[in-house]
Amino acid sequence: MWFSKSPEQILKEFDVNPEIGLSEEEAKKRLEKYGENKLKSKPKKSTWKLFLEQLQDMLIYVLLASTLITLAIGEYVDAFIILFVVLLNAVIGVVQESKAEKAIEALQQMTTPKSLVRRNGEVKEINSEEIVPGDIVILDAGRYVPADIRLLESVNLQIEESALTGESVPSDKNAKDIHEDLKTPIGDRSNMAFMSTLVTYGRGEGVVVSTAMNTEMGKIAEALEEDVEDMTPLQKRLDELGRILGFLAIGICVVMFGIAFIQGRDLFDMFLTAISLAVAAIPEGLAAIVAIVLAMGVTKMSKKHAIIRKLPAVETLGSVNIICSDKTGTLTQNKMTVVKHYVYGKMKDLPTEVSGLEADQEEKELIKTLILCSDATYEENGQSTGDPTEIALIALGAKYNMNKNDLNAKYKRVAEKPFDSDRKLMSTLNKEENGYRVHTKGAIDNILKIATKALVDGKVVPLTEELKREYLKVSEEMSDNALRVLGAAYKDVDHKIEPEQMEKNLIVLGLVGMIDPPRLEVKDSILEAKRAGITPVMITGDHKNTAFAIAKELNIAESIEQSIVGAEIDKMSEEEFANKINKYRVFARVSPEHKVKIVKAFKSHGNIVSMTGDGVNDAPSLKNADIGVAMGITGTDVSKGASDMILTDDNFSTIVTAVEEGRNIYNNIKKAVIFLLSCNLGEVISIFLSVLFAWPVPLIPTQILWINLITDSLPALALGMDPGDPDVMKHKPRDPKESFFAHGAGFRAVLGGVLIGIFTLLAFYFGLSEFGYRLGSGNIPQRVLRYARTMAFVVLAASQLFYSLSMRNEKKSIFQIGIFSNSYLIGAILLGIFLQAIVISLPFLANAFGVQMLSLRDWSIVIGFALIPLLVNEIIKIFTRIKDTK
Ligand code: ADP
Ligand code: MG
Repeated sequence: MWFSKSPEQILKEFDVNPEIGLSEEEAKKRLEKYGENKLKSKPKKSTWKLFLEQLQDMLIYVLLASTLITLAIGEYVDAFIILFVVLLNAVIGVVQESKAEKAIEALQQMTTPKSLVRRNGEVKEINSEEIVPGDIVILDAGRYVPADIRLLESVNLQIEESALTGESVPSDKNAKDIHEDLKTPIGDRSNMAFMSTLVTYGRGEGVVVSTAMNTEMGKIAEALEEDVEDMTPLQKRLDELGRILGFLAIGICVVMFGIAFIQGRDLFDMFLTAISLAVAAIPEGLAAIVAIVLAMGVTKMSKKHAIIRKLPAVETLGSVNIICSDKTGTLTQNKMTVVKHYVYGKMKDLPTEVSGLEADQEEKELIKTLILCSDATYEENGQSTGDPTEIALIALGAKYNMNKNDLNAKYKRVAEKPFDSDRKLMSTLNKEENGYRVHTKGAIDNILKIATKALVDGKVVPLTEELKREYLKVSEEMSDNALRVLGAAYKDVDHKIEPEQMEKNLIVLGLVGMIDPPRLEVKDSILEAKRAGITPVMITGDHKNTAFAIAKELNIAESIEQSIVGAEIDKMSEEEFANKINKYRVFARVSPEHKVKIVKAFKSHGNIVSMTGDGVNDAPSLKNADIGVAMGITGTDVSKGASDMILTDDNFSTIVTAVEEGRNIYNNIKKAVIFLLSCNLGEVISIFLSVLFAWPVPLIPTQILWINLITDSLPALALGMDPGDPDVMKHKPRDPKESFFAHGAGFRAVLGGVLIGIFTLLAFYFGLSEFGYRLGSGNIPQRVLRYARTMAFVVLAASQLFYSLSMRNEKKSIFQIGIFSNSYLIGAILLGIFLQAIVISLPFLANAFGVQMLSLRDWSIVIGFALIPLLVNEIIKIFTRIKDTK
């Protein structure tokens, strides 16, 4: 048992030196031997199973039953067509479903956690799946433990193991412990870290002892399998709508059948007609279309650096009207450079490209403390790792020829208290020649609170109010110039002390100011967001003046009154804060729990809030926000786990892009759905009216099924993939409570349906009248009916296809958006018309479908009829546009 053995024994067993780690070749060999480090997932549904699932539907059963009946009475052709339509429908369903599934899977792949390992003597980040037994893994706060690990080193390490033990209080870990008792329960194995548990505090290092299904997690993996069906609110609403419409359609069909019965029509014919109409009218395609449009949409978003973790977020994005964003790294470049440093009475400005500087004694102490109290690494060639703030400090040292590795070797670190964004401080205890020294760095206001003395002109003097004022004054000056300020302090102790004893009675050394330039593209994104009715808000742990200076530059805030600090928030009651929240644009010196308050206060006004976060403690605010946004690069696994969306480039602009995409996706779904509904309605109207008025039915069952097949699939899908409207960010955010049929969408569906239905009937009537018959005439010869039905058949299909063009925008004309700007749709329309032409022109198909060849003259007539619904809708748009400009 790993926990009962000594580290030496284990290292020997895995044949690895912890200082160097495995070599890449060895790791590769072991990867082949042990396999990828991932838990076996559920076996995927086979295509065959997906196909069968498509057939498990009431309607399909009815259709299959009708096939049998048609077969029984010898209508082989009809039976074949119905069967064909059923199968083709299922195939389309399978293709759509697996496409949607693949897209979502690919996204999940992108968010797989990464781990820090030491290989070939270097620390690097790799995908957790590539970890092998024997790897040396470095654990730090916010990371998931990638495999089962025997700890070799631990510093204040705490791990939350609820995934494994159910215990949500983090357990303390200690690499030095050895548990002789082989029955030690998992929760008490303090020298182990287990796969899928979460480091909440401190640091550690260890050797991987088991991976994948051999881990403790792997052993219970089967029990954990969860199958969460994640329907978005829109999908739920459309599901509901589909059901209602389904019942309506069935109701209509029953009524129709009843009427036909009274009229004494051929009941078997009418039965088939009613069934086909039900199939056509029930919007069974809704769910599939929405799923695939969502899936395509999130794939597109992932290419634009926004990974959607929870599908409902796509819709919510379209309604976001407040974007709360971290400053450092999201609004700024997170490329910090120290440009000034200050020890009492001496300010020094640093040119960027400079080296070999000389520092006097106090300055040396300042830089030494800053370097020793940093975890980052710095290489001249840009291969630095770690917190950019710390990289800047080590780079500062390099300018003075003070090398981090040399200093670390000379003054060994023996204990530490890690940085956290509540204290805004970090401290280490390092060995000195005689005794030890505490090095502390962090927010200067906090440093001044815990310091009692200061280093002035080489002497340690009491920290008087006057001295404090001086330090603060210098710090304010730096902040006003948008510099990030970091203070440093130290104290000497003669023995090793506990972390709790470190941050008191310190001696102030001085401070440094670093620039972190705003990201270039952010300014435009902020303008765009504002134009789109979205308020950008800055949230930062940084100093108020620094924050405001950058906020002003980026046009987030105009006056300093729009900023508030965490301490002021604490003084207000929740209610008072909520009342005032709308006036603030900058929240400075805030801690993670303030972020929760901010989200809640904004939400209390009915705002839809997006909040960014990266730290361990940011999870609550991300969960509370309508859209929790985690940072892909700097973010911890915890924050990613709590988020709805991950930015792979940590960039504010990506949030705005995602909002835009979210709006487009919603609009596209809406277009596709409204289009489907108008098509279905058109079919219902033309058949139902003719039955009601005792006319001959303009379309026979196989024709209805066929048309439904070609219009419900590709054109609707193509509408769902419509390129975004360039003006989508000129509108206000969508009210999340807004009905799907708002802004005339319901009207357009009904209008389209009525027009399509009526013109189909008109085409039918026209066909009859060519031979001198009318709708009411008795005993119309088959030959005439066939001709008139062909006219109706083409008009019904073509008018739906053409109408789809008009659906692309509710206000702009088809010319304004460019007829050809959606090539999928053009393709779908051309294909549809082509298929119609084939069906009526190839003799055996024409016979099967009961249609006939049309002359050129007939074609121009039917195309003319089919264009009218499109024209009418376009004319209505002209009036809407005129009304809008008034
Ligand atoms: P933000 O990311 O919003 O800029 P942080 O929480 O990172 O805010 O930092 C808040 C403050 O904490 C900074 O202004 C700085 O004074 C201090 N600080 C930041 N990083 C470190 C660090 N690595 N060590 C010590 N103090 C730090
Ligand atoms: Mg930070």
